[in-house]
Amino acid sequence: MFITERHRPSELLHMEAMFSRSKLDDKNHNQLENLRRGYEGECIYDNIFNEVGHDNSYIYRDVYLNIEDSTTQYDSLIVTEEGVVVNEIKNFSGTYTVSDDSWAKGNFELPDDPFAQLRRAIGKMRRLSLSSDLQFKVSGKLIFPNEECTLIIADESLKQNIIIRSNLRRYLARFKNSFSGNFAREICEVITEHIVVNPYFKSAVDFDDVRHGIYCSECAGFEVDSERFHFRCSSCGSYETKETHFVRAISDYKYLFGKLPMTTNRMMEFTNYKFSKRSVQRLLAKYCDREGIYKSTSYKFKYYDFEDAMSKQPRNIRYKDRID
Ligand SMILES: [Zn+2]
Repeated sequence: MFITERHRPSELLHMEAMFSRSKLDDKNHNQLENLRRGYEGECIYDNIFNEVGHDNSYIYRDVYLNIEDSTTQYDSLIVTEEGVVVNEIKNFSGTYTVSDDSWAKGNFELPDDPFAQLRRAIGKMRRLSLSSDLQFKVSGKLIFPNEECTLIIADESLKQNIIIRSNLRRYLARFKNSFSGNFAREICEVITEHIVVNPYFKSAVDFDDVRHGIYCSECAGFEVDSERFHFRCSSCGSYETKETHFVRAISDYKYLFGKLPMTTNRMMEFTNYKFSKRSVQRLLAKYCDREGIYKSTSYKFKYYDFEDAMSKQPRNIRYKDRID
């Protein structure tokens, strides 16, 4: 069973908010595409795991673990009575030539060697195993979930660390036959104790460096007409509730401005005064936790991101309220 949820990574949420509210240069655009592709690969993996079933194992997705004073990110950790299996998910597409120490796509050699990444991730997990006294076994695989990915591997021995898409279902189905009892639960306790918030996400822009206002989720236009409970997009005509727009703005704020405190006045400015002060106060109180007192009151978003907040609301304020 899945122990942790998988969300869009912070860096992806930052870049998506930047994409909606500013002009990205080519470098940032490529970065956004890479982040999106990475996340899509992880979702394919999750979907296949869901289809084959995972009742007999514990699965941590997208966790950061602090082990011996450094933090390692794991795409997926599968815990059973046998120990821990690390899965590093690589959503590569195209044809790659793979040798022990280099990966090349045509003439382009990848700057990061996926085998080295996997070895580091496994090594850290082994350190956790040793320091915990449980001495659980650790192994790992590189997972390639994209159907359009071809790997040319001359050295047969390297293949044992790789799962390509056509073998993925069979590979994940094997965990259905595993057993997870007390020992697996003890391993999970150790892993859970070491989970930390992503310490690498530091991207932030200045408040005035991005476009203020609210934008249509269908066509990305910023021109909207205010109706009683909805904003109607002037370009494509789609409707979204005002509350939905406001939650999207809170989420963008969280991932754009780093430590800049979120206040009533700043949210009014950020949404380009499309909401009354009373509405802003009411919605901040609903979706955020208050910090500080009186004049220095600021707010912290209660949810991971927009999708997370929306998935936990009743149907009537959700975002797909298109009226044709
Ligand atoms: Zn629109």
